[in-house]
Amino acid sequence: MLLNLHTHLLKKQANEQIIFNEIIPDAEEALEDFELQNTENWLSAGIHPWYINEKLSNSQLKKLAAIAKEPTIKFIGECGLDRLKGSPLSVQEEIFIKQIRIAEDVRKPVIIHCVRCYNELISIKKIVRPRVPSVVHGFNTKIEIARQLLDKGFYLSLGGALLQEESNALKVLQEIPLERLFLETDDKDISIMDIYQKAATVKGLSVEELEKVIFDNYLGLNL
Ligand SMILES: [Zn+2]
Repeated sequence: MLLNLHTHLLKKQANEQIIFNEIIPDAEEALEDFELQNTENWLSAGIHPWYINEKLSNSQLKKLAAIAKEPTIKFIGECGLDRLKGSPLSVQEEIFIKQIRIAEDVRKPVIIHCVRCYNELISIKKIVRPRVPSVVHGFNTKIEIARQLLDKGFYLSLGGALLQEESNALKVLQEIPLERLFLETDDKDISIMDIYQKAATVKGLSVEELEKVIFDNYLGLNL
């Protein structure tokens, strides 16, 4: 099974298990009406840092808390921090920490969106000390940052950047221990098989071996 850890598209290939991301809406009416639609898929659900509504954030959090226990929801998130977009960082931090608390309550792992806020992410982990595991998704930043995150116990999910020569993600892939790796397509209309093939080649495995490693990583998050 090709586990696609994070996608915003419902398309899937044969033998692909997607974790489809549901964003808790930031508009009042959409938030009131929000219900999980795609319960036949595995899901992640969270308040994305671009879509925090400061006036409604308590209702957004309540909505998330209300659905977080649903068995189809496998991760809380994507949630996190983005220096380039969204609410002020202090607000993003507060909402992020509250979502980590929800994840702890339901004992589910967290999937993290992080743009140029890695120091803040590491300090939050140090302060909050979540017992649930965290995966930083769409990682495509310098190897030094990857090393720091791996050292602090984060998992990394790599995506479309693996298909570009000389990308940071490709350098990270060469170094990352297999037991911390996930693969994803995110919002791109690309084939998860292409990503598995590339990653398998770099790691010197068959695609089947890599499928098993990654699925075992997933199972290990939920112990
Ligand atoms: Zn995403």
